[in-house]
Amino acid sequence: MRKKIVAGNWKMNLTLAEGEQLVNDILAAGITLSGDQAVVIAPPFPYLQQVKALTRSQPNVFVAAQNCASEKSGAYTGEVSAAMLASVGVDYVILGHSERREYFNETNAQLAKKIDLVLANGLKPIFCCGEPLEVRKAETQNAYVAKQLEESLYHLDAGALQQVVIAYEPIWAIGTGLTASAQQAQDMHAFIRGQIAAKYGQDAAAGLTILYGGSAKPSNAAELFASADVDGGLIGGASLVAADFAAIIKSL
Ligand code: PGA
Repeated sequence: MRKKIVAGNWKMNLTLAEGEQLVNDILAAGITLSGDQAVVIAPPFPYLQQVKALTRSQPNVFVAAQNCASEKSGAYTGEVSAAMLASVGVDYVILGHSERREYFNETNAQLAKKIDLVLANGLKPIFCCGEPLEVRKAETQNAYVAKQLEESLYHLDAGALQQVVIAYEPIWAIGTGLTASAQQAQDMHAFIRGQIAAKYGQDAAAGLTILYGGSAKPSNAAELFASADVDGGLIGGASLVAADFAAIIKSL
């Protein structure tokens, strides 16, 4: 049975005190998680240790970084390595978010290096993929996403791929209030799973967690998550409001 995950990406928001309050409010919201369900919280780097400390007693709550360096260590001022993240108890690393690709020029090839470093340090990548609006309008989104998967993931062997979570985030739906319909999400998730099946086999594809991201909120989460190939969500804006995030988790 593959894991179902709701992950909250705080992006560059909240002070430490606000973040602590948010985590405490989420934990106080009466969420019960079964063995195959997990919550992942992705705060900014400086709060990772504190969020880990606040959630350590919760067996199904994990902490993610929002990025890591594509180099192992050394003279890279301002960067944070996968080894550093592992050393402070981080569990997952979000990689290839469309904001990183767009504003910081991250390429598929660079992301392949980051994925290797994350895996080498015993962490799990949440690999983001998804097409911009013009690609969706041209109806070439499948080829676009297939290329992202191929160039960043397909160098992995089957064992390494088992550690990867994929997040499909159509760029036109991120922070825009425009959500992909449940059918659009399901269609792309099924396509991604089919691509993984073709490359790694049916078992690998069946075990792969694929999250949807892009204006997911309490009012649409249950419908999105009800689709056969949608295994949860990567939540931006709504993860900053405890009641909303808790409601989305309860929709799993
Ligand atoms: P959003 O962001 O939920 O605010 O659209 C999703 C994301 O960027 O992961």
